[in-house]
Amino acid sequence: SIAYLNGEYLPLEEARISPLDRGFLFGDGIYEVIPYYNGKSVGLMPHINRMINGLAAIEIKNNHTADEWKTLLDDLIAKNSDQGENLGVYVHVSRGTDTKRYHAYPEGVEPTIFCFTFGIKDPEPVDRTRVHQYSMISTEDLRWQRCHIKSTALLGNVIHFQEGYSTGNDEALLYNAKGELTEGSSCNAFIVKDGVIITPIQDNQILPGITRRIIIDSIKADGSLKIEERTVTMDEVRNADELWITSSSKEIAPVTKLDGKPVGNGEVGEIWEKAFQIYTASKFDF
Ligand code: PLP
Repeated sequence: SIAYLNGEYLPLEEARISPLDRGFLFGDGIYEVIPYYNGKSVGLMPHINRMINGLAAIEIKNNHTADEWKTLLDDLIAKNSDQGENLGVYVHVSRGTDTKRYHAYPEGVEPTIFCFTFGIKDPEPVDRTRVHQYSMISTEDLRWQRCHIKSTALLGNVIHFQEGYSTGNDEALLYNAKGELTEGSSCNAFIVKDGVIITPIQDNQILPGITRRIIIDSIKADGSLKIEERTVTMDEVRNADELWITSSSKEIAPVTKLDGKPVGNGEVGEIWEKAFQIYTASKFDF
């Protein structure tokens, strides 16, 4: 496939960066993953704006306007159209390559920009009886206190994901020291109780997920379901009728097993199906 590196398009296997790159040495960078289905993106401008905000938050120089980013990513997808109908694009901006390993932000260094595409699966069917069901474990969120920044330093997330994976689960559901739900190791989380959809508020404990945003906005615009953003305790999670995890690659994924026990009645819920229907009908508008 064709990748983009610092202004050039080249075969992915030929892309090279210096070992003195701050992304490599310190995980000092910001990234995004954006899905395209048959060439149509979901949440492209929200993803780009989140990245621009993240770069500003950690003082990495951003050489592109939002429209220039859009053109760059759309062009890369077009160049890779022979790689499959559905593609994700990974965008990585590190602080750049220094002449030494030294913690302070270097001056006069250009950021490293690296993008590549990869095949993604077809969306899951909007059908409770056929959709893939997820199983999770829960564990205390031991990442850092800036989870709203989409940092390339993902070791905390990787360790938590592995806790789920190594025990035969798909993901790990995280809670803070107060026993409040934060998110998954690579996704946001929602519960449903008595017909009301509830998701933790957007603060420094979670990534402001674009899928989360699209779900909230499309469900509010539709008007037929109730949705709330508020603190959610793990007791509420354990007593919920439904549990979902959301991300650009998973869309809205129903979780039917948590810590080896069924969520609700152990089946995919009716509210999931309605919400996924609403999301699917409007996702390309974002
Ligand atoms: N939370 C974390 C920790 C993530 O890594 C991700 C996505 O990778 C998400 C949430 C979901 O974000 P989005 O919907 O923007 O993909």
